[in-house]
Amino acid sequence: MNDERVFETDAAPDCGGRIDVTWHRSAVAAADRARLLGQEPVTVWLTGLSGAGKSTIAFELERRLIAQGRLAFVLDGDNVRHGLSRDLGFSPEDRMENIRRAAEVSKLFNDAGLLVVTAFISPYRCDRELARAVIGADRFIEIHLCTDLRVCEERDPKGLYQKVRRGAIGGFTGVSAPYEPPEAPAMRIDTARSTVEESVAEILRKLAPGLQQKRYTS
Ligand code: ADP
Repeated sequence: MNDERVFETDAAPDCGGRIDVTWHRSAVAAADRARLLGQEPVTVWLTGLSGAGKSTIAFELERRLIAQGRLAFVLDGDNVRHGLSRDLGFSPEDRMENIRRAAEVSKLFNDAGLLVVTAFISPYRCDRELARAVIGADRFIEIHLCTDLRVCEERDPKGLYQKVRRGAIGGFTGVSAPYEPPEAPAMRIDTARSTVEESVAEILRKLAPGLQQKRYTS
């Protein structure tokens, strides 16, 4: 790992003009945590339609990273809606707030030194750009799982497309709500063409420069 690439995140973020809050600096630098853990923290931001494979790939990537002795954590869209975002629905405003919260948590986890993998449809370009700004462009690795709607609908792992076609769910991304594909993602993966293992291996290759060689693997 090259120390010059360790990200400094000790500056106070924009507080939106508030005059009643003050930023307290930690005595620990981001570089100290990176050295301790032997990894440069980044957020792998998976975006794509429901059924594209975001959760499947995210959790397999997490498993592989932990097996290599890396500290990694998945923020999964559905899981986050069980807790942190349980008060939010699927209107464009709520989707934006959901992504803002996910991005803020990703930033905190990155500040703590963890590798973060997110699995959110995150259909709007402006929401993903907000996430990039919150997390920091140097730490944000946007990966588009560009799998065709037809394939996602055939898989229908949660039976959601069936419910959508029956009219039981409205505002569903790709069918009755828009999906805005990233224009210049770090990577595009079509999971109709790559296996889970191949996709994860490709992402691991992308992360490798920021990961210190470990003396062991479990
Ligand atoms: P998402 O999180 O994008 O909604 P999921 O990961 O929940 O998608 O579901 C994807 C489904 O597609 C799973 O049932 C998974 O086993 C299946 N699948 C089949 N082939 C692949 C592949 N190559 N990559 C990822 N998932 C795949």
